[in-house]
Amino acid sequence: MPPSILWLCRDFRFRDNAALAAAAGAGPVLPVFLIDGALRAQGAASRWRLQRALLAFDAELRRRHGATVLVLEGEPWDILPALAARIGAGSLHRNDWPEPATIAAQQRLGRALAGTPVRLVLHPGHLLVHPRALRTGSGGAYRVFTPFARALRAIGPDRPGGEAASLSPLTDLPRGLALDRLDLAPDLHRGRAVLERHALPAGEAAAQARLGDFLDRAAGYAAQRDRPDLQATSGLSEHLAMGEIGPRDLWAIASARAKADPAASPGIAAFLTELIWREFAWHLLIEFPRLARQPWRPEWADFPWRGDSAALTRWRRAETGIALVDAGLREMRVTGRMHNRVRMVAASWLTKHLLTDWRLGLAHFADSLTDWDPAANAMNWQWVAGCGPDAAPFFRIFNPERQAAQFDPQGRYRRRWLLGWQGAEGEEARAYFDSLPPGWDVPRTWQDRATPERLAQGRARALAAHAAFRQAPVDDR
Ligand SMILES: Cc1cc2nc3c(=O)[nH]c(=O)nc-3n(C[C@H](O)[C@H](O)[C@H](O)COP(=O)(O)OP(=O)(O)OC[C@H]3O[C@@H](n4cnc5c(N)ncnc54)[C@H](O)[C@@H]3O)c2cc1C
Repeated sequence: MPPSILWLCRDFRFRDNAALAAAAGAGPVLPVFLIDGALRAQGAASRWRLQRALLAFDAELRRRHGATVLVLEGEPWDILPALAARIGAGSLHRNDWPEPATIAAQQRLGRALAGTPVRLVLHPGHLLVHPRALRTGSGGAYRVFTPFARALRAIGPDRPGGEAASLSPLTDLPRGLALDRLDLAPDLHRGRAVLERHALPAGEAAAQARLGDFLDRAAGYAAQRDRPDLQATSGLSEHLAMGEIGPRDLWAIASARAKADPAASPGIAAFLTELIWREFAWHLLIEFPRLARQPWRPEWADFPWRGDSAALTRWRRAETGIALVDAGLREMRVTGRMHNRVRMVAASWLTKHLLTDWRLGLAHFADSLTDWDPAANAMNWQWVAGCGPDAAPFFRIFNPERQAAQFDPQGRYRRRWLLGWQGAEGEEARAYFDSLPPGWDVPRTWQDRATPERLAQGRARALAAHAAFRQAPVDDR
């Protein structure tokens, strides 16, 4: 049998990995990872996390099958046809990661392979179902979450695929980049050591262990998932973003547990609804690729956002003087993660009180999150800003002080991240300062600037801008 190339892309797992199973079933396999333009365009923290996923996958590949990942630098349409010819490959297997830049790269590769005997085979597995499986009564894509979720639940997710029992590695490997000297995120500078200190374990085994741990405490999820001061959510988003666990597998395991454990069942149902939000984001991105860059509602192209400003710089540096906002942004600098409730509050502060274009916030999150996901990031930023599909209306403006009182009632979360806030001096609050690049002159003691006047003025300015925008005459030319 001719060998196959397994072209890896955020699918660093053995369970429910259709491309790996198909390649392994067809003959010897050469797993390949490419450092290409699409990867370089991704954020630094995400690339840093991806490297950990790649190394964990490679170690497991060696342990199980004596194979290793070949890492090459260059564009897929330049590298893969030549590589396939060199090893005599008959097919190239890939789990579809349906992000616009990746789809374009796959199409260009398809054109480069035309006329050669090599077939490019794309496999599903990044989503619960294919977007075409969910259609409204009039045949279009869903734009509203509740009917989307209902329709998905009615047909149920696709079943996870099996795991390849064996994989025969290709001998006589071409030379690639040394994995132990790889650095996919040279631009992280001082942030790297801090992220390394606060990293969660990477890899498929860690993802399955985290899921098991979460299911043991899932009974509290529905009531506590909005509390950043508690460990109530699953923490699975990094694993999902790297494909260390597949959503179909996750759904099947969690659903089986809900059936077996009635006390955990409501919590697991709420958790699966969140997984449907992830699915909704991806279906929207696939159907409407502009979601990642342009306002979903086209008229919002004219919204009078402020551009880059000193206030944006302070937001990026987590020194807005608003406790919950700065705590979240510092958590993200130190760990690469941020609790969902705090993401919403930080995004609301930027887009409403600071009246800043959501795309500037989106870019900062994309560069800083280890769980960066192009669909979830875009949909949620547009949701908060008010210009997205099924979005919160613009006039719903979070009051960060009230949000903090409700969701961090004893202040444990803020104390953890803000050095000096009510005498806080813990390791995590200090770690933020270890990560700062030269020139970021942030005072060691956190300064509270949440006066009632400031909160009220920001809110009033946002509402006035929105009212003027709504009344602006439509230019019909
Ligand atoms: C402005 C903003 C930007 C965001 N950017 C990202 C991003 O880049 N990557 C990302 O994975 N999530 C993003 N989210 C969604 C959400 O904050 C994270 O998925 C969640 O905090 C991850 O923690 P968890 O795994 O413990 O979540 P859990 O509560 O345990 O949820 C389980 C899973 O459901 C999915 N999920 C949960 N909430 C959402 C949501 N609102 N939208 C889409 N999927 C969701 C995630 O895959 C998550 O891992 C963003 C939210 C906001 C408000």
